[in-house]
Amino acid sequence: MIIYPKIALFVDKIQIYSRPLRDAHGLIGMAMSITHLGTGSRGNSTLVEAGGVCVLLDQGFSGRQLEKRLGRMNLLPTDIDCIMISHHHGDHGGGAAIAQKKWGIQILANERTAMELNLDPMKTTYFGSLDLIKIGDDLSILTVPVPHSGADNVAFVANYRGERAAVITDLGSWTDELVKHVHNCQHISIEANYDEDLLNNGPYPFSLKERIRSRGGHLSNKQTGEFLAEVCTENTRSIVLTHLSEKNNSPHLAESTILYHIGDFFSGDIDISLQDGPEKTHFVNGKGDLHQNVVTIKSKSEK
Ligand SMILES: [Zn+2]
Ligand SMILES: [Zn+2]
Repeated sequence: MIIYPKIALFVDKIQIYSRPLRDAHGLIGMAMSITHLGTGSRGNSTLVEAGGVCVLLDQGFSGRQLEKRLGRMNLLPTDIDCIMISHHHGDHGGGAAIAQKKWGIQILANERTAMELNLDPMKTTYFGSLDLIKIGDDLSILTVPVPHSGADNVAFVANYRGERAAVITDLGSWTDELVKHVHNCQHISIEANYDEDLLNNGPYPFSLKERIRSRGGHLSNKQTGEFLAEVCTENTRSIVLTHLSEKNNSPHLAESTILYHIGDFFSGDIDISLQDGPEKTHFVNGKGDLHQNVVTIKSKSEK
């Protein structure tokens, strides 16, 4: 485990002003919602809505795909207030520049990520490690560095009126700093990338297997279970497992391995986000009662 040097909390504050509220349904405004538009090696993006503000965490989809996925939630790309990019890998940031060009959306990223993605500096806001980014009146998002090969990757911890949700992906190991900020979050989305046996016995070349397993690679189901055992508390109401490898994992292996580690004390919901979404919206509210507020998003054709 890498221990980063201690950095003062909340080094900097960045204010992003929200656009007019989206009046989708009554729960928005009372709660923060988390919706994965899709996760995996072919593209990642997660919508966070709170207090009328719409933020995307990562934009790894083409412009057309983003439009289509947001459309299933009756949203347009122009409804998005800003996009925060975790790191420069194509499945997380590959669609950032197109979002700037096509819709003029403000992108937030650290310098390395912005440089690698060739972002337009006029439409880019730079953040550093452990910056607290305030968006609108009540939402703030903390950027927590995580180890991931060849990238300055960050996890996001969103805070809305005191309730917190973490979105963590693409890391080979974790730090005490990450544990500190994710501990006791009401919602945790985290990658469960591979099953160790499937990866070891699978078709990938040895060097790629080594890279995935390394300290800067991805988390196995077992590692994700161990991490969750450190950070989950009775306040944790929902977990979404993301970024599952299509070759080296399966939903039932991921879920059963994680439950092995936390099943004794975690009684909330576990869901899995795969490549095609959005599928579900998780609401994080101040009451700690999430079950009644979990809403399944249906496509327009299903409605
Ligand atoms: Zn990725
Ligand atoms: Zn990556």
